[in-house]
Amino acid sequence: MSAEARQITIAGGGTAGWMTAASLARFLDKRYRVRLIESDQIGTVGVGEATIPQIQLFNQALGLDENDFLRRTQGTFKLGIQFVDWLRPGHRYIHAFGQIGRPLGLLPFHQYWLRYRAGGGELGIDAFSLNASAAAQNKFTRQVKPANATLPPMTYAFHFDASLYAKYLRNYAEQRGVVRIEGKIEQVQQRHDGSIDALVLANGERVGGDLFIDCSGFRGLLIEQTLKTGYDDWSHWLPCDRAMAVPCARAGEFTPYTRSTARPAGWQWRIPLQHRTGNGYVYSSRHLSDDEAAATLLANLDGEALADPRPLRFVAGKRRKFWNRNCVAIGLAGGFMEPLESTSIHLVQTAIARLLTFLPDGEPRQADIDEFNRQAAFEYERIRDFLVLHYKAVERNDTPFWDYCRTMPIPEELQRKIDLFSTGGRIVRHNDELFTEVGWLQVLLGQGVNPAGHHPLADQLSAGELAEFMNTIRAVIQHETGAMPTHAGFVAAHCA
Ligand SMILES: Cc1cc2nc3c(=O)[nH]c(=O)nc-3n(C[C@H](O)[C@H](O)[C@H](O)COP(=O)(O)OP(=O)(O)OC[C@H]3O[C@@H](n4cnc5c(N)ncnc54)[C@H](O)[C@@H]3O)c2cc1C
Repeated sequence: MSAEARQITIAGGGTAGWMTAASLARFLDKRYRVRLIESDQIGTVGVGEATIPQIQLFNQALGLDENDFLRRTQGTFKLGIQFVDWLRPGHRYIHAFGQIGRPLGLLPFHQYWLRYRAGGGELGIDAFSLNASAAAQNKFTRQVKPANATLPPMTYAFHFDASLYAKYLRNYAEQRGVVRIEGKIEQVQQRHDGSIDALVLANGERVGGDLFIDCSGFRGLLIEQTLKTGYDDWSHWLPCDRAMAVPCARAGEFTPYTRSTARPAGWQWRIPLQHRTGNGYVYSSRHLSDDEAAATLLANLDGEALADPRPLRFVAGKRRKFWNRNCVAIGLAGGFMEPLESTSIHLVQTAIARLLTFLPDGEPRQADIDEFNRQAAFEYERIRDFLVLHYKAVERNDTPFWDYCRTMPIPEELQRKIDLFSTGGRIVRHNDELFTEVGWLQVLLGQGVNPAGHHPLADQLSAGELAEFMNTIRAVIQHETGAMPTHAGFVAAHCA
């Protein structure tokens, strides 16, 4: 490496840009100089508000104090996602984080539950989940008492105001040496070999770099508009291509979970924050007009709307390469899948981790670039399949949108997962795919995919032993949730 500092230039200061800047500031030494360009004139998407538990690792890696972070971002806790009216109108289930029951011998808990249910057991799988039971009562606590070592700790994520989170991280990054440049990038200059040389701002300033991180959002200013990387369009599997978002006054239940309610041409999110509730209708423009979406959204709010509905457009999919030449796309510039399972901010986090793993110490090496792209594509595709499952496995036939989803062809790998589960209740995960067996279990069951039988080894317990096993777990969960404070009470006490 040359004696001169290597320059990393980040284009864009939304959640992705500032998460990247904060991480680089935290982990890189003085041999690297990090600059971030953003334009107040353009602004950010700023609606990403729900996360998954891995965000805790990101915050811990930066050394953020959890209560301080929640206070500054008006954050709340999230134990899972409740899905309302997805399978059919009137039906609901929860995809809760964390374990369900506990494994016994060679088998995961759900094999015993399948036997219990086949024998007439009436409790749903959610009755054996600490998170689901707490969520059902709007309760929350961080730690289950050590006395109850039979239960794993609560697994939780956060809801927060994404714009405040970006601001919080901006402060963090600037304090650690990241230089922010305000201005609109008007031109991207390339070298003879096609790699990026410099970004030219509206005021004529030229910002060079060795490595460029494209965090410019959907427009993909560097990765697409300049490098013409190409995009894999997945809208035949994920047909929603628009969202109408609106915050409303806080009213109704202060839930420690996100709610997703199926609508005639998509679904509506409800995300409780401390100062307001975030809402949005994600829909297919082939099946619904923007005006109809806005009207449906406004008719289904808990409290008074605090702004006009804001339209957003997108195409589900990903760039053919996330890293192309000396440019790495992170955030919406790399791809987008609707927020049904709150995965976008997580994808920013894993892209940053991958960037740090393959950080070049000179010219980027093709082997590193290829492996980065292979891992990123795998991660996107497995999340895609999980999202597609929600749309495909439905009984709904009440609108052309749901008819399309129910009858559409699906990716082969997803079909394999459905077949394995619907026969013997087997759940197969590959490598580091994001969603856990328990995540797949809850969504498969919740979407009406029911196994024909259970694993033969689950029959090794006598009927009495099975009943005791199930009753003990249920009793511990009831005892623990009974002692928990309400979500509102916990937030008020620790991070309001
Ligand atoms: C409807 C919707 C709902 C979502 N909900 C969730 C959710 O619940 N959970 C979740 O994890 N994620 C969610 N997301 C995704 C989440 O919002 C994004 O992943 C996240 O905000 C990262 O966005 P970004 O930083 O990549 O892009 P942006 O927020 O668009 O930021 C782009 C940045 O680039 C700058 N920029 C662009 N062009 C130029 C230029 N020419 N010159 C200078 N600067 C420029 C802009 O000023 C801005 O700072 C949602 C997204 C959408 C669309």
